[in-house]
This record gives sequence, structure tokens and C-alpha cells, in this order.
Amino acid sequence: MPGTSERVDADVIVVGLGAMGSQTLWRLAERGADVLGVEQFTPGHARGASHGESRIIRSAYAEGTAYVPLVQEAWRLWRELEEASGQGLLEATGALMVGPAESSLIAGPLASARAWELEYELLDTARLRARYPHFAAREGLLGFHERRAGYLRPEAAVTAAVAAAEARGARVARETAVTGIVPDPRFPRVLTAGRSYTARHVVVAAGGWLPRLVPATASSISVERRVMGWFRADDPSAFAPERFPVFAHGDASGEHDLYGFPCVDGETVKIGLHTWPGIEEPADPARGHRPPDRADAERFAAAVGDTFTGLDPWPVRMVACSYALTPDRHFLVGPRKDLPGLTLLGGFSGHGFKFASVIGEIAAQFATDGGTALPVSAFDPHRFD
Ligand SMILES: Cc1cc2nc3c(=O)[nH]c(=O)nc-3n(C[C@H](O)[C@H](O)[C@H](O)COP(=O)(O)OP(=O)(O)OC[C@H]3O[C@@H](n4cnc5c(N)ncnc54)[C@H](O)[C@@H]3O)c2cc1C
Repeated sequence: MPGTSERVDADVIVVGLGAMGSQTLWRLAERGADVLGVEQFTPGHARGASHGESRIIRSAYAEGTAYVPLVQEAWRLWRELEEASGQGLLEATGALMVGPAESSLIAGPLASARAWELEYELLDTARLRARYPHFAAREGLLGFHERRAGYLRPEAAVTAAVAAAEARGARVARETAVTGIVPDPRFPRVLTAGRSYTARHVVVAAGGWLPRLVPATASSISVERRVMGWFRADDPSAFAPERFPVFAHGDASGEHDLYGFPCVDGETVKIGLHTWPGIEEPADPARGHRPPDRADAERFAAAVGDTFTGLDPWPVRMVACSYALTPDRHFLVGPRKDLPGLTLLGGFSGHGFKFASVIGEIAAQFATDGGTALPVSAFDPHRFD
């Protein structure tokens, strides 16, 4: 028993090996910690929030200037994981945000670029139309372009981090569901159907399952379904990554924001609706993602037909996923006073993937040093109490 002999099953246990947990496992293993990861499925699966082939990373952060140093550190760590794994995970394509001057997609990145002296280019409507005829750009729309942006390969990033961690001695229990977590300031425990594991610290990175597993987070996180679609390009070379960046497109209300990627398969462009009337559908990850249907395709067809030229607006395929949303759309990262021995990672609100590498480093610091010097005060898990 740990109370007497102080022997534990692992220094740190990481519950959930999706985007955040896999990176945490890797960063802990890099520090030489004795770490065990527990994942209910097989890492790289499509039942959580980290599938669908691509995730945007951008530096001049629209969602707040405070994210900029985090994304800069995340970028560095993604490159480090590429080195460690020998895999290409981050493609730098640049990013283009399209919207009216007052929209969060233009005003947000401008504020971040100015605050942190980042390189960018602001395109007026005429230059936007000339350089990116892909968009049916209405009068008054601007383009914000930055070079230090691109996309990540989410499934590969998860499996690469788990493999890099295992190469450093981490242990992984796959297809093993955690049924309960018992907080304790010295020896928190993780329960599965077969056994109870004791650790010195537990990082809980359970994505959309977090509210059920840690009920103290239930009032801070709501899970919603989102769908990604792939659209055939008339001329795929016009949308090739050398010419066409990752993008987001929105209006002044922020209620019609979509995003997407260049053509990386030689045929299609992937697009997602971030906000759009009618898409807010509560989801329960334990039941699986509700499969895409005709209503999803019709909504996409209207949005894509209205926004682009050169794309067939009817999706050739669609995949469902889910957002774990907090009320302010900022993350939950860190400990809670009423849950000693635990670090919580959750509520990534549809924009967390790009940060997963630095969130993993932050969680590793909480687990082994009891805190972090990286700026996470805006992510305090107590702020909605
Ligand atoms: C459609 C879509 C598009 C997005 N686009 C972007 C983007 O372009 N850029 C960006 O930065 N972000 C984007 N995001 C957000 C980003 O993908 C998520 O914030 C991120 O993947 C969340 O990672 P996570 O580790 O919290 O959750 P997940 O990846 O879902 O991981 C949670 C893991 O915990 C495991 N787990 C849960 N409960 C248990 C249990 N009891 N026992 C064991 N294991 C358990 C699950 O099986 C899962 O593997 C997007 C999200 C979606 C859905």
C-alpha cells in the first residue's frame, strides 16, 4: 500500500490518450518520469475529437492575444516531435482569414499580430479577390494573411507522441476504460474494471468524456456535434498547398464562421462549419458521433456555394466529430482545490489541437513540478464555479 511503503504503479498516470493525453505522455516520458497512459480505445481512433486528417495551426491568434506565446511554444514542440518520430506532422501553408474589418476573424488576428509584432499582410477587397479568386468575396471583406500557420496531421500526431513516449519507457494500457478516479494529495488512484492503479499524480485528458468522469467539470463543459466535409475542386491545382493556405471565413456576427484546408489529396478541399445556424446539437461521446446525414450535406451545400468559386458545394464525404465547449470558449487546464493530486485538461472548445504539444508540456510541469511558468491563468478550472 502506498500509505506505508510509498510504492506506486506509476509516478504519473495519464487518463485518455487523444490530442492532449498523448502529448502529455510524451512530455512526461521526455522528462524521465515513470508514466502510464490509459486509453479506452486505440490511440489515433475516430471516436473522440482528434480525427479527420487535418487541424489548423495559426499564430496571430484570433481568440485572444494571450494565446500567442503558447502557440509559439507549441510550434517548437511540434517540430521537436517530428524530429523524435521521424514523421512530418506540421505543414506550413500560411493562413488566410476572410471577413469584414469588425469581425473576430480580422480584428482578432490583427490585435495579436500588433501585440506580439508578428508578420502579416492585410488585403483589401480588391487584392483579396485578385490573389484568392477561390472566394466569392463580397464588397467590404478583407483578408488577413500570415505565413507562420498551416495544418497538423492529428491521427499521426497522436500515434507519433504515444510511440515516442513508449520509446522513452512510458507504458500504455490500450482498450482499457477508466471507470473512476479517486483524488488524493499524495496517492490518487485510477480505477478500471480489472484493477486499481496508484500514482503520485493523475492527468485527466478525457476530452468529451471529462464531465462524466470528473463531475466537478460538468457545469463547465458542454459537448456538441460538428461535421467536417470534403468538396471536389474543379481545378485541384488552384487549391494546392503551395498556392492556397488554410483559411477561415466569417461575418461580423461571428455566427457564420467556416474554416478549411488546401487540397492535400489531389481532389478535394476539406471544410468545417465552426459556427452556423442549426449546428449546435448536444452530443454524448459515450454513444458515438451521430453519423452525418442529408441535413448536414444541405447545410454545407448552402454555405460552400455561397462562399467559394471552383468547388462543387455538395460534399463527397462527411465525418462527424465533437467539440467540448466551455462557456467562454477558453480551455480548462490545471488543478482544482477539491480534486487533489489531479491535473485537468479539457474544454478545448473546438480550437485546442494546435496547442496539444504545449498543453502536454504544461501538464507534465504540473504533474512533476506542481506548477508551470507558462501563461495558463485564463484557463483556471475554477472560473465557472
Ligand atoms: C471538427 C473539428 C475540427 C477542429 N478543428 C480544429 C483546428 O483546425 N485546429 C485546432 O487547433 N483545433 C481544432 N479542433 C479542436 C481539437 O481537435 C480538440 O480541441 C482536441 O482534439 C481535443 O483533444 P482532447 O485530447 O481534449 O480530446 P480527445 O482527442 O477526444 O481525447 C480524449 C481521449 O480520452 C479517452 N478517454 C475518455 N474517457 C476515457 C476513459 N474513461 N478511460 C480511458 N480513456 C478515456 C478518449 O477515448 C480519447 O482518446 C477541432 C475539433 C473538431 C471536432
